[in-house]
Amino acid sequence: MLTCSQCLHANARTLKFCENCGGSLADVAAAERVADESEAEFMLLEVKKAKGAIGLVAILQIVFAVIWTLTDVVDTTGMVVMLGLGGAFAGLWAWCRSNPLAASIVALLLFATMHLADAIVDPSTIKNGIILKIFVVVVLVKAISAGLKHREFVRERGMA
Ligand SMILES: [Zn+2]
Repeated sequence: MLTCSQCLHANARTLKFCENCGGSLADVAAAERVADESEAEFMLLEVKKAKGAIGLVAILQIVFAVIWTLTDVVDTTGMVVMLGLGGAFAGLWAWCRSNPLAASIVALLLFATMHLADAIVDPSTIKNGIILKIFVVVVLVKAISAGLKHREFVRERGMA
């Protein structure tokens, strides 16, 4: 809605002149556009927080692959799987730069599948690092929801 600064009539966003008094709506539209842009920017900032969580998963995955291999917790196959997943998260981390929404969705799916598979093989793994797991899931879910809102917002307002 564009509220006319002269008569306070609420006009549709597409109008250039107030349908009540005929006054120009250019100033109001410009102010609205600035507000829209900063809101869209803020949403995008929320999506970009996923990058930190994805990077953390990548680093932990690689660090634990090394530690667990050296302490014989996992065999070579286990190490290769862990390093592969670490590499995949590192790739998603890099992808966040160009497409944070898609990268967050893939990261959440991969992260959930990875820990679900662990839990099926050995149910006692569920509680391992549970706070970290919850943290990662919460950050990714929030990022995805912000990303979807951002997309909707930009589309609704016809922003590029
Ligand atoms: Zn007016």
